[in-house]
Amino acid sequence: MSALAKNYNRRKIAFKRGKGSFLYSTNGKKYLDFVQGIAVNSLGHANPYLIRAINKQAKKVWHVSNAFLIPEGEKLASRLKQRTFADYVIFQNSGAEATEAAIKVARRYFYSIGKPHKNRILCIKNSFHGRTLATIFASGSKKMTEGYGPKVDGFDHFEFGDHHSLKKKINNKTAAIMVEPIMGEGGIKVVPDWCLRELRKICNKKKILLILDEVQCGVGRSGKFFAFEYSKIKPDIVPIAKGIGGGFPIGAVLMTKKVAFCMVPGTHGSTFGGNPLAMSVGNAVLDQIFKKGFLKNIQKVSKYFHNELDNIKNDYPKIIKDVRGVGLLIGLKLFKNQSKFIKKLEMNKLLTIKAAENVVRILPPLNVSKFEIDLAIKIIRKVCKEL
Ligand SMILES: *Cc1c(COP(=O)(O)O)cnc(C)c1O
Repeated sequence: MSALAKNYNRRKIAFKRGKGSFLYSTNGKKYLDFVQGIAVNSLGHANPYLIRAINKQAKKVWHVSNAFLIPEGEKLASRLKQRTFADYVIFQNSGAEATEAAIKVARRYFYSIGKPHKNRILCIKNSFHGRTLATIFASGSKKMTEGYGPKVDGFDHFEFGDHHSLKKKINNKTAAIMVEPIMGEGGIKVVPDWCLRELRKICNKKKILLILDEVQCGVGRSGKFFAFEYSKIKPDIVPIAKGIGGGFPIGAVLMTKKVAFCMVPGTHGSTFGGNPLAMSVGNAVLDQIFKKGFLKNIQKVSKYFHNELDNIKNDYPKIIKDVRGVGLLIGLKLFKNQSKFIKKLEMNKLLTIKAAENVVRILPPLNVSKFEIDLAIKIIRKVCKEL
């Protein structure tokens, strides 16, 4: 009997090793892994470059307290600054910590400019921002918050796409609007670029902050470093996590100097966040993602992938309702419950994972090859045919 608590509904399959896009199970089967730890292993399994980086750092120093200077973190932060909207970065260990830090920064900003009453965050109903007490109430999901009262106050919600309610919910207590540019867990729902631009305008007009949660869609997943870059806007605060560590737990909150000034010594901290081992891996991930042509290639292969999936949808219009997503954050919205479909894919050696709204989430590593995409296409087509 497992001594692990039952809070996960685990599939009965374990892996002994991985390589690139593939996983090898303990019972000797080879799977094409288009889950990649839920968009975490951005460079696939057992990436030689990342292995070298982590080994090299492991022999030097793993962890020191943030009470000291950490050059590896200085380097990672300054590279993020150089390549993005951000002026400052705080490192964390996970997505929920990063989004929660984003909320803290927004509140602390208004506190610091003498408007402490502006402390409420406006979020999309049934979004996903993590599993800490604050972030489950930010997500506004009944399922995730059930049994975890008392309610953490300070969050208001509007329905996805309901612009009227969004505007109505902003009041003089609102500090920020927080949305995922592409809702991952929520079913790969893309906030259109014009909506992001409109959100930016509303935030400017109301003098509130725009937080874009790029924990899942960020760090190259969309084909740009950040998904919001397609809209050409600049957010104020952006939490990231999943992809930046390539499998090593790293979170971060990125922010402009306008808001960062409020984070003075003692206002926030983390024991593990930003340690040398994590930062060295983060730097190695960026070495690859910032390589010339890397993001362009994601755009190219993902366009091919989306086209092929559209073709399958056209051939099986009674099974697939919609192909969603941007870049390599892809969702197949099915007419029926997606679990059976995911199981069939697994039986055919393709691993995918579900998202809300009957969506099958497809998350290849960012360095996936056309050959591997073709293999996935073949399996998806076969499962549609047999269904
Ligand atoms: C996964 C995710 C989180 C939470 O990340 P954890 O590392 O699981 O805490 C937050 N926001 C979004 C958009 C995510 O996809």
